[in-house]
Amino acid sequence: ATPTAIMAGIGNASRKGILIKSGEALENVGRVKTIAFDKTGTITYGKPEVIDVISFEEKYTPGKILQIAAIAEKFSEHPIGQAVLNRAKEESLKISDPHEFKVEIGHGVRALIGNERVLVGNQKLIDDNKIGVKQQQEEIITAHEDQGKTVLMVAIGDSISGIITVADTIKEKSKETVQELKGMGINEVLLLTGDNEVTAASIAREIGADNVYSQQLPGDKVQVIEERIANGERVCMIGDGINDAPALARSSVGVAMGALGSDVAIESADVALMSDDLSKVPELIDLSRKVRGTIN
Ligand code: ADP
Ligand code: MG
Repeated sequence: ATPTAIMAGIGNASRKGILIKSGEALENVGRVKTIAFDKTGTITYGKPEVIDVISFEEKYTPGKILQIAAIAEKFSEHPIGQAVLNRAKEESLKISDPHEFKVEIGHGVRALIGNERVLVGNQKLIDDNKIGVKQQQEEIITAHEDQGKTVLMVAIGDSISGIITVADTIKEKSKETVQELKGMGINEVLLLTGDNEVTAASIAREIGADNVYSQQLPGDKVQVIEERIANGERVCMIGDGINDAPALARSSVGVAMGALGSDVAIESADVALMSDDLSKVPELIDLSRKVRGTIN
């Protein structure tokens, strides 16, 4: 494309709330064949809510499970912790301070409440602490995960005392955007998430993603992108969080979702979308192709 066409393209995009940092990014984005989406905050709104609270042990009511989990999550900054706290507040439960508190990144939280150790988090957290999951509990957990919910296991002492399920609503335009991208000749749409396998697969199914990578820590997302690029693919990564910054930086074209996005993500990206509207992604690709004057 000519420098004039590129300048015009960048100007045109910025009026649509698409900030393109370089002419190179504008030219490259129309050539990508693989698009990797972060899940939380990108495909979903990023505001999880508690759906179910279930007790596995007679000595605890569901209200007690929620209260203990909320105390454990009291100092958590993770949206999942916030969801638990919000529900407990709605139910006017008293949320005292935990005696000790520690975040297990990508897995959950650990707290000391009275003299009881409490864990709230995923399967990995439970496994790492050598707590067993009964067959019957496992079945209940999987049934919820199959519906796209994230299950938090609440271990009080040495057993799983209950579970809390949370769900993050899929954005209205996620499915439609994935379809549109495939119609534009994108070969593969990937979903990258810290969520467990079953929940991740359920969301991928719902939006029509071709491939899903679950239980992704920030370093894992980079690895996925790097493997693809090493394989000769041009990959566009789309994400919003601090967690996504390294993968955005490493991809052929990194696109940061702006509205709720972290500053670090925006800095690491080649393109920043000023809203959290996913339909800007096909618009961006379309614009790139027009500027280059080609169809592919
Ligand atoms: P993502 O934001 O992509 O879901 P994270 O890496 O932040 O990924 O978290 C991965 C998983 O770890 C979550 O799906 C959840 O199961 C668990 N987890 C993380 N933080 C918490 C928390 N504060 N309380 C309970 N579980 C958590
Ligand atoms: Mg995110």
